[in-house]
Amino acid sequence: MQYVDAGIETAGVVIVGSGFGGLSAAKQLAKSGIEYVLISSTPEHLFQPLLYQVATGVLASEEIAPPIASILRRHREADVRLGKVVAIDPAKAIVTYEHDGEQRRIRYGSLIAATGASQSYFGRDDFAEKTFSLKTIDDAKLLRAQIQRVFAEAKGADEETKRRLLSFVVVGAGATGVEVAGQLKELAKRYYHQEVSVTLVEGAGEVLPPFGGGLSEYAKKSLTRTGVEVLLGTFVTDIEAGKVTVKDKSGVESGIAAETVVWSAGVQAGGFAKILAEATGVATDRAGRLLINPDLTVGGYADIYAIGDMTSLNGYPGQSPVAMQEGRHAADIIRRKKQAGTAFKYWDKGSMAVISRFSAVTKLNDRITFRGLLAWFMWLAVHLFYLVGFRNRFAAVASWLIAFIGTGRPGFAEVTKTAEQSPVEQRSAA
Ligand SMILES: Cc1cc2nc3c(=O)[nH]c(=O)nc-3n(C[C@H](O)[C@H](O)[C@H](O)COP(=O)(O)OP(=O)(O)OC[C@H]3O[C@@H](n4cnc5c(N)ncnc54)[C@H](O)[C@@H]3O)c2cc1C
Repeated sequence: MQYVDAGIETAGVVIVGSGFGGLSAAKQLAKSGIEYVLISSTPEHLFQPLLYQVATGVLASEEIAPPIASILRRHREADVRLGKVVAIDPAKAIVTYEHDGEQRRIRYGSLIAATGASQSYFGRDDFAEKTFSLKTIDDAKLLRAQIQRVFAEAKGADEETKRRLLSFVVVGAGATGVEVAGQLKELAKRYYHQEVSVTLVEGAGEVLPPFGGGLSEYAKKSLTRTGVEVLLGTFVTDIEAGKVTVKDKSGVESGIAAETVVWSAGVQAGGFAKILAEATGVATDRAGRLLINPDLTVGGYADIYAIGDMTSLNGYPGQSPVAMQEGRHAADIIRRKKQAGTAFKYWDKGSMAVISRFSAVTKLNDRITFRGLLAWFMWLAVHLFYLVGFRNRFAAVASWLIAFIGTGRPGFAEVTKTAEQSPVEQRSAA
């Protein structure tokens, strides 16, 4: 595509990305009435931790992906732009973004980069074509369509076809992998009333490795009880149509039937993280994340901050609270509530993961942990609190009641609704 040069503008602060990091930086700047331009390649703020619920029909996509412009509509300071940032000249303090055939340049006073990370396939990029991932709202919709297709085709099919269609392999037993595996079993049992095989493959020696000890053991037992087959210390070596090949620690290879493979193992920062690293000469780790300074600035540039999943600092986890706290920290330095050069310190309030309905694990610290029903309610409350917008919270509670107390899947109605719309209606709804 040929881009038209739309000239150069000036802005006090430019934020790149509308995820957890970018949004919290924006809200913090607004507290001091500081104007900013927020550029994002997606029009929504995506609540990634609930993507698996969209994929499995618990929630509708709009409940976890409200438009960023509507979230910030009361911010007089906000200038929200849809576009992809494609270049940076740190010496001249200019970023370039593209949208709708136009190339625009903005000279910034300060820049906050928060462009996240994408899926890592550990050198096997061909796996991307053969698996479903959960990073974007489109990923969740694609997986949802696949789940609906296999269950629809399995209905009334002979036993062998049914077994083939209803075989799932989930790669990676972090929170997302565990949540997807647990939900698939529940969906099959309580909604479709079908038998499915779900295999969870993990290279490490335990599920939910960051939790460890009793909580990982509890998660594994709970998954096994629901019928998920858990393979630990096992690596995927190949994926072909209908089959995943795995190798265990002793080097023995075996094949697992898999009509659907969900990939949730590891992250890789590329895109703008790579562009920024090259332009500033800053080193990255093996996952392409920028090795930023303790005050979140990038290399020798005091006017460029990088935060969230695109960065690596002190071994902090790639989780939303880190991105949010870093966004607020960078904004606080810009609005002079913190001194320039102040080191960022992460306040770890704990981690949680759902295993299945009424079963979750929560780790506040090494001594205070919860499991089972109480942890599940804590998970629900925390996710509700952080979900953006009153209407979305209300809709999510209604959907959870239908899916977890009842047996419905309100998220699937979104598909039916779209399919019933005329092409004109679909285009205008998009
Ligand atoms: C399936 C899943 C489940 C998760 N579950 C949990 C959980 O339970 N708890 C938890 O704490 N964390 C969880 N995480 C991690 C959490 O979502 C991330 O840590 C968090 O989103 C990081 O925030 P961020 O702002 O760095 O990036 P993101 O939230 O990924 O936002 C990146 C933004 O940058 C934009 N962007 C990217 N490139 C460009 C570009 N070139 N130009 C303009 N804009 C660009 C994107 O459109 C997006 O708006 C989960 C992640 C996933 C994928």
